[in-house]
Amino acid sequence: MVFSIRMRAAQGGAHEKGGRHISGAERLVGEDALSRTAGEMVERALHHSKGRADFIRITMEEVDPASTKEIEPPAIREYEGKTMEETREKGLAVLAAHGVNRTAAEKALQALLSLDVSMRGAMAVSAETGERMDSLGDRGIRVTRMGFRDKAEAARVLVSHGYEGMHIREALVLAGKVLSCEDVLGELCISDDPEYTTGYVSYRDESGIPVYCRLEPLKPAGCALGGRVFFLKDGADPEKVRAYLEETTVFVRTPALSQTAEITDRTKERKSDLLTGLAAEAESLRHSSVYRKVTDTVQHDAAHARVGGEDCLMLTTNNYLGLAHRKDMEEAAAEAVRQYGTGSGGSRLLSGSFPLFTELEKALAALKETESALVFNTGYMTNLGTVSALIGPKDHVFSDSLNHASIIDGCRLSRGHIHVYPHNDLTALSEMLEDLPDEGRRLIITDGVFSMDGDIADLPGLLRLAEKYDCLLAVDDAHATGIIGNGRGTAHYFGVSSPRLLQIGTLSKAVGSEGGFVCASETIITLLRNRARSFIFSTALTPPDIGAALAGVRLIASGKAPVRKLQDNISFLAGKLAEAGIDVPGKTKDGKVIEDFLPTPIFPIVLGSDERTLAAAEQLRERQILLSAIRPPTVPKGESRLRLTVTADHSFGELAYLADTLKEVIGNLS
Ligand SMILES: *Cc1c(COP(=O)(O)O)cnc(C)c1O
Repeated sequence: MVFSIRMRAAQGGAHEKGGRHISGAERLVGEDALSRTAGEMVERALHHSKGRADFIRITMEEVDPASTKEIEPPAIREYEGKTMEETREKGLAVLAAHGVNRTAAEKALQALLSLDVSMRGAMAVSAETGERMDSLGDRGIRVTRMGFRDKAEAARVLVSHGYEGMHIREALVLAGKVLSCEDVLGELCISDDPEYTTGYVSYRDESGIPVYCRLEPLKPAGCALGGRVFFLKDGADPEKVRAYLEETTVFVRTPALSQTAEITDRTKERKSDLLTGLAAEAESLRHSSVYRKVTDTVQHDAAHARVGGEDCLMLTTNNYLGLAHRKDMEEAAAEAVRQYGTGSGGSRLLSGSFPLFTELEKALAALKETESALVFNTGYMTNLGTVSALIGPKDHVFSDSLNHASIIDGCRLSRGHIHVYPHNDLTALSEMLEDLPDEGRRLIITDGVFSMDGDIADLPGLLRLAEKYDCLLAVDDAHATGIIGNGRGTAHYFGVSSPRLLQIGTLSKAVGSEGGFVCASETIITLLRNRARSFIFSTALTPPDIGAALAGVRLIASGKAPVRKLQDNISFLAGKLAEAGIDVPGKTKDGKVIEDFLPTPIFPIVLGSDERTLAAAEQLRERQILLSAIRPPTVPKGESRLRLTVTADHSFGELAYLADTLKEVIGNLS
């Protein structure tokens, strides 16, 4: 016996109690497949891309064999337009060529595109005028009680022609049943699945053969609004159409795609599922709030840039000392090119280690007051290589919850046990350490200056814990080198040193070039040189990178870099923001610069909601001020913020103007 099994799922309670429709499906199955099908339907409702259903209704009903009908499946055509507009136009033209008035088709398309809730059924409209004919409102006409006569065989034939997945099977059955109703001339459907950008039109061709023509792309990805329209003949009775589509059981014969090859006429070769899937994912990113893109920017120095044809005051660079645009730095890079060429040609361990590397590593070790140093290609690669070289599967790494992504990735790559401790919470960290079994190596790792908040790790406290619990301690000074501790970083700022301390850093921020480094004991550097895969298996940095980096480190170490000027700018801006009544964590509160003011160039101005933050950033952009709007997931929800970075290249006048403008813009926010 055959059963009709139906599922309808909603969120926020049953549909009739106001729940939002999530998913619906209907199958005709034999008795033996009833419970399996019910299980599949429940899974689908619980894991739907529109959300998890909290109301699921399943109905099973035996079908009377006398009341069933058997029909041919529609032939398949496909059209892939370059743009949504092009595809929509194609759909309208196809309908207009097959008995639907062009204006009626346009009206129907508009009606679908302007839906503000997805319809559960279809609108029945006149194929002549496009006027709605049924009076079923948002419910519309549903199509139920249908399926392939031989589901497995139909699936096999479709898959062997490259039509995989259940969506095409369901669409063929549904479109087939609709076209088997003699009062229907055609159909227009836009998918309401946010993961799809497709839809279709169906019609009877010149020889009366039903055709299903898949259209892509018809709507933007990520959009959960869709629906269908049936075009009815003049004088048709919508109630009769509804009764047929909802009550008569229809079996669809297996498609015979090989014999109908000439009429299936696939307009374009079908792209593989993989490529289509990737394109849909990229498209949906483009419409999401986390979409990222790059903008051409010409920086004149660390404070001024030309962006999109406009000169802007820039508060977004990590080139804190302005070294990246100095003549003496450029000359050092050029001189390195003249001596050693433009590329290193190999990894450091093979042939890539030209003599400037040795000089740079000596200069770094001197700057950080350590025995030795090792240069990597970027700060990111430094963290990846260092954590994974020192920590293995039996070991433990303790990582601050606000650490940089490259540290997180390094921890994951190490396959060690990862213990994330609450930001700067040494009590929590010591409890974690206390609970640890006495085996395996331990590494505590932290940003020195935290990149989103501009606060400073309690390095002396961490070092005490490292000593008590026999751990290595690594501090990532990406935003500290060249800035705090007289430009020497966090350890110097606190006056701490230890053979268990690793000072990690980047040459890409205040140093004004590119690269990363670790300064530590000879023992640790030897291990890293032999074990850090991101060091071993990547071509060495280029001569100009190293020439500039060496010049930058020497400027900082000799006191000739504008570290003092940067510090003056940080204090000056804090003073101005305090005057403007803007609270900045770690800097100002209630109109005053706070007592334990943090001398870091990162100013987080927390505005709360995404909307306020984006609006403020947008208004500042209109006044040619560039800073970043930081939103979740980079920072916790409700802590969206403007983040600005001060550099040595800003003038007091510019910083005063910035504070005034911020005051005005924030004051105008709702
Ligand atoms: C920027 C940054 C890095 C990465 O350094 P790159 O040289 O840009 O790869 C690592 N750690 C922290 C804390 C950073 O801010």
